[in-house]
Amino acid sequence: MSVLVVGGAGYIGSHTVDWLCEKNYDVVVIDNLSTGHKESLNKKAKFYEGDLRDKSFMRKVFKDETIDGVIHCAAFSIVPESMKEPLKYYDNNTYGMNVLLEIMNEFGVKFIVFSSTAATYGEPKQVPIKETDPQVPTNPYGETKLAMEKMMHWSDIAYGMKFVALRYFNVGGAKEDGSIGEDHQPETHLTPIVLQVAHGTRDELTIFGDDYDTPDGTNVRDYVHVLDLAEAHRLALEYLLSGNESNAFNLGSSTGFSNLQIVQAAREVTGKDIPTKIGDRRPGDPSTLIADSTKARTILNWNPQYDDVKKIIKDAWTWETKNPQGYSDK
Ligand code: UDP
Repeated sequence: MSVLVVGGAGYIGSHTVDWLCEKNYDVVVIDNLSTGHKESLNKKAKFYEGDLRDKSFMRKVFKDETIDGVIHCAAFSIVPESMKEPLKYYDNNTYGMNVLLEIMNEFGVKFIVFSSTAATYGEPKQVPIKETDPQVPTNPYGETKLAMEKMMHWSDIAYGMKFVALRYFNVGGAKEDGSIGEDHQPETHLTPIVLQVAHGTRDELTIFGDDYDTPDGTNVRDYVHVLDLAEAHRLALEYLLSGNESNAFNLGSSTGFSNLQIVQAAREVTGKDIPTKIGDRRPGDPSTLIADSTKARTILNWNPQYDDVKKIIKDAWTWETKNPQGYSDK
């Protein structure tokens, strides 16, 4: 039995691949390395370099490998970039899913676990957010991910393809030994930027807006450790392989931290002064995103082990201090 991880050389993909390899799954990876890093791949995984929109490449992989289930982590995921270049997101994300489902159907592969996002909810009407709450994205990134969820839904109805959509909230942390971690070029996410400032590879952090309707005026987000996400992917795959129905699950800690609280936590973990300034709001940012992840905990038996924002920052700090230039240090 093999699990195919599409986008397995990215941040979440590589931690999931590593976790599955450690649990003795046979893992096949597809990645076009547009944002992923070959150095992040566990040596036990079998790697095919190519693009999921390339049907002949995809057919070759599905022909050569016996694939029982797919974990799909290959997508562009930067909110501000998606605001500037929406069609790039529709092409890679939405069309990429189209090809993947088409090829899976052609080869009779019936199970897919999908990296979805809290961004599919948009500005929530209530927090914590439940899976049944309205999905009204405020940016093209969230729109493409919502479209991808719907493509799986209709493929289930038409072709009997079962899916789990994992709606991640804000992901952080790294493998505890700092051997793999987060490396985006350019980096746009809050926790790695905060730690780059702590490390001195950046001068200061600009906090995007302090006039939101939140306790300290800065955005509130719900942080989840990448290793807990990796386990959630494994549990979701097993859930599907056991014959369960398609489903969607929020993955978060159910606790919100404001951007200022994250900076403060990072100061405490690193012992560094982290200079900040307040800038304009970033277009497309909802003010507060906090997950209700009761459903994942009860149905998938997901039991996050690193449910603590300081642990997330500590592990990301280990990665940052060992690899200040990311994978180009390797
Ligand atoms: N953020 C910030 N400065 C930065 C990067 C991010 O203030 O340099 C804020 C961003 O506006 C949001 C939060 O940090 O409120 C988390 O943003 P990130 O891009 O990490 O994740 P997102 O919530 O967009 O998925």
